[in-house]
Amino acid sequence: MSSNAPPSAGLNPAQLAAVHHLDGPCLVIAGAGSGKTKVITTKIWQLLHSGYRASQIAAITFTNKAAQEMRERAQHLVGKKAAKDLAISTFHSLGVRLLREEGTRLGLKEQFSILDSDDVLNVLKDAGGTTDAKQAQRWQWTISLWKNNGVGPLQAAQIAADDDERAAAAVMVRYQERLAAYQAVDFDDLITLPLKLLTTDAEARAKWQNKLRYVLVDEYQDTNAVQYELLKALVGERGMFTAVGDDDQSIYGWRGATIENLKRLPQDYPALKVIPLEQNYRSTGAILRAANNVIAGNPKLFEKKLWSEYGDGEPVVLLEADGEEHEAERAVARIQQLRADGKGPAFKDFAILYRANHQARVFEQALRRAQIPYKVSGGQSFFDKAEIKDLCAWLRLLVNQDDDPAFLRAVTTPKRGIGHTTLGALGTFSAQWKCSMFEALFSESLATAVTARALAQLHEFGRTVNELQYKARHTEGHTAAHAMLTEWLKDIGYEAHLIDNEENEKVAQARWGNVLDFVDWIAKRCGGQHSEEGGVSFTEPKQSVLDVAQTISVILSLAERGEEQDQVTLTTLHASKGLEWPHVVLAGVNEGLLPFKRDEEEMTAEALQEERRLMYVGITRARTTLAVSTLRRRKKGRDTVVGIPSRFLAEMKLNEGGTREDPREKLKRMRAELAAKAAARDEPQP
Ligand code: ATP
Ligand code: MG
Repeated sequence: MSSNAPPSAGLNPAQLAAVHHLDGPCLVIAGAGSGKTKVITTKIWQLLHSGYRASQIAAITFTNKAAQEMRERAQHLVGKKAAKDLAISTFHSLGVRLLREEGTRLGLKEQFSILDSDDVLNVLKDAGGTTDAKQAQRWQWTISLWKNNGVGPLQAAQIAADDDERAAAAVMVRYQERLAAYQAVDFDDLITLPLKLLTTDAEARAKWQNKLRYVLVDEYQDTNAVQYELLKALVGERGMFTAVGDDDQSIYGWRGATIENLKRLPQDYPALKVIPLEQNYRSTGAILRAANNVIAGNPKLFEKKLWSEYGDGEPVVLLEADGEEHEAERAVARIQQLRADGKGPAFKDFAILYRANHQARVFEQALRRAQIPYKVSGGQSFFDKAEIKDLCAWLRLLVNQDDDPAFLRAVTTPKRGIGHTTLGALGTFSAQWKCSMFEALFSESLATAVTARALAQLHEFGRTVNELQYKARHTEGHTAAHAMLTEWLKDIGYEAHLIDNEENEKVAQARWGNVLDFVDWIAKRCGGQHSEEGGVSFTEPKQSVLDVAQTISVILSLAERGEEQDQVTLTTLHASKGLEWPHVVLAGVNEGLLPFKRDEEEMTAEALQEERRLMYVGITRARTTLAVSTLRRRKKGRDTVVGIPSRFLAEMKLNEGGTREDPREKLKRMRAELAAKAAARDEPQP
């Protein structure tokens, strides 16, 4: 494509038909990677060249991140100026815009506030007269589901099916009263209130239908009932919209999204032009075949055939692991191995996908150990948790006493009566004498800058750090390290600190649990333990706590790099929707994890189908290589249980088409894994 060719130049005929269909409603329904999102971005360009002004076009995406990405793509196509005026947003942020501009019509003041989930829980507890967080949570779910299906408090009371729901309906009345009194809205209101406005206020409706003359919706399969109504109200009778979606990727049923919206569209808009796309431009044949095999297990709403021109490519690889840590090590070894081959992909070409957020941690730890930069997308990184940062500050200080930020964090966490005034004076003093704050601590002339009491406390802190450093240098091996670290936490009173600073006891406990995990992790790194992995037994060489702290400090500086860096992505399957990477590892493909199942519940057929769609989403994120990993043993609470491979693995039919691991490849892989292990034990190279 030459640089001044229109962006539609590379599109196939079906995509072009969708882009050029401008005078009526249009639905593109097609499988993963078939260029649906590409149709939307190209169509924005087309609309601008057909006389629409940028401010008249709204494109609705599923997440803020997707909106951001689409804005960038649009900028590329139509230029910065036009892109600025386009309304590219999620349903929710479009709702915020409508409410900011029109809220007064609904009796909202201009500066209304938007409650987040925690705020909502507090209001619910208050409205329901309870302190029981679990109860409030259940109300939140029920009320949210009602709201998302257009059910208000009055109707809720009528349809409530049992005592629980009747109670929830009663709470909902008081909840709504409180929101009104506080001039506040919750997330669901961001859709339901604009909808109410557009359906009840003809003037507002005319104004917005005139303002936004063309609407594009990506990931249409995951809209819920009220979002669909809002779309209808926005586009009105004229129905100038393009929706793109894939019924096989509907993964938000649990949040009220409904495939009914796909079925209703042709009924509500008889003029709807439905366009299928069949060519996949993302993945190799082997990956696509596995995806098609899995989704074949679900009933079909729309018949779809996906094919790719890219040839069969690398077979899908199955990684079997003896436990979570081993799984993470194998994933890391795979990244290193693929990068070692030939030209080698960048880190940002890799993603590790998993079903549940908590699975991320072991991968984070393994990546850090191998000094591979990564980002946790759509969730908090283990190492970004306040309690882990606190402890890392202490460790950094042990390694380098001149690390002033670490000093400041450690000296105030837990609190030891050293206040801002003292620290301010210490800072000024150290700046004057061009020394670190820790050095300043023992300077004789510091007595002139701080009170005698403060000086004593500072000295006490300095001694604590020195002693700790001595111990850390002379403690090695798993058991000794564990004991030393536990004693340290007790000495500085860290558990009490967490409890004092956290209102919610459960949260405090969870934080303390993270601390204990972290301690275990460090202790393990101190080695000396005999372990067996994949039939090979070995003893990790011993290291001192200080050595391990040093490795951690180096790794930490890796993490402090910005967003645009070359990083491996860690993300949940849900958050991976719409995205793609050359190399994907799909982790924890086990019964119970994927399909996810709570112990006490029987799994419904619908739930299983949604999990299967999730698996399909995961597989289809991969462009060039895909590895699926499964656990032979896995942790469940405190226990280790036998891991049962997910039924989805069999459904992928990996053995058909020669996807067994080649023995030579296997040797190569094992060598890479051993090398990775050895490298991780080495001192980091600064
Ligand atoms: P998903 O269902 O996962 O959201 P999608 O249908 O939205 O997928 P896109 O993300 O639009 O698919 O496209 C997948 C990949 O194929 C992208 O890298 C895109 O740039 C590329 N692509 C799309 N259409 C074409 C085309 N006609 N020629 C070449 N590449 C294309
Ligand atoms: Mg897409």
